[in-house]
Amino acid sequence: MHFSKPKRPIQLMEICGTHTMSIARSGLKSLLPDDVKLISGPGCPVCVTPSSLIDLAYDLAQRPNTLLCSYGDLLRIPGNKYSSLQGLPQVKICLSCMDALTLAKENPSKNVIFLGVGFETTAPGSAIAILEAQRQNIQNFFFLSLLKQTKPAICTLLEQENTLIDGFLCPGHVAAIIGEQGFSFLPNQYHRPGVISGFDPEDILYSIELLIQMLNQDKPAIQNTYGRIVKPQGNQTAQAIIQIVFEPQDSLWRGLGNISKSGLQLKKEYETWDAWKRFNLPPLTNTEPKGCQCASILCGQKEPKQCPLFKTVCKPQTPIGPCMVSSEGACAASYLYESED
Ligand code: SF4
Repeated sequence: MHFSKPKRPIQLMEICGTHTMSIARSGLKSLLPDDVKLISGPGCPVCVTPSSLIDLAYDLAQRPNTLLCSYGDLLRIPGNKYSSLQGLPQVKICLSCMDALTLAKENPSKNVIFLGVGFETTAPGSAIAILEAQRQNIQNFFFLSLLKQTKPAICTLLEQENTLIDGFLCPGHVAAIIGEQGFSFLPNQYHRPGVISGFDPEDILYSIELLIQMLNQDKPAIQNTYGRIVKPQGNQTAQAIIQIVFEPQDSLWRGLGNISKSGLQLKKEYETWDAWKRFNLPPLTNTEPKGCQCASILCGQKEPKQCPLFKTVCKPQTPIGPCMVSSEGACAASYLYESED
């Protein structure tokens, strides 16, 4: 593919971890013009969840009659006090919140707690599971909301001093829910272009070309190359379900700190299923593993190879930080697919 020549050096951020993995796997960076740099952002939900969650969950799992469950990647993240949740007999992998609800029905003598990480993409499924728990009056199922919203994190990045992000490859999965309109703040508030992209290398390459063109013309807008999935208004049914069950709350992000109204908590009418309230859990804190640079990587300030632990002590088999654990993590992507420069 032939790219337009950028008028100046530009940095583009891919927000989504699935994009990060696809870019690394396809070797796509080697095809870009020299003055176009791709950097990874805070779009891996497991990676942006503070390590203190693992310690909190480990302690929670020690309570009598408790089953904890979540996605496999989260269970392998190292904590600060504890190595990880993996291997604890009272911790199970679930592929969805609805699977956790089924587990609760199958184990009526246990408190089944789902660790609900994710963005707008997973929020509708979680909301449906909670509505179903209410409908079936299931009282031993609890949702520990760690859900986050994309927009407040991007705004925080763009409002940092000396931010060097010229444009965004917007996440196709999140856009399927919030629509093209969900990213209109980029040109309108920040004069930055964004292209909503699918995940095939061809999709990404074409999206990057559109970003270069918009930057060259200084005409930022939101363009959508994933129209087969993403509609201008998004999935309004999913948006409505999220709003029925959840409301915005402040949320702590690894790397970005506490961001106002960037998380989703259960509304008061669903607090019966709210694990934070039911088990009186303390708020999370941001303490990173010693030497780990995940916080800087998630903000686009560093690349994996700039971490002194990368490929030395930190490897997929012996991860130090979440970016090496997650199947969407920038360090795992770089370790698996990118050679040393
Ligand atoms: Fe953290 Fe490991 Fe990545 Fe370094 S290489 S930033 S320790 S995950």
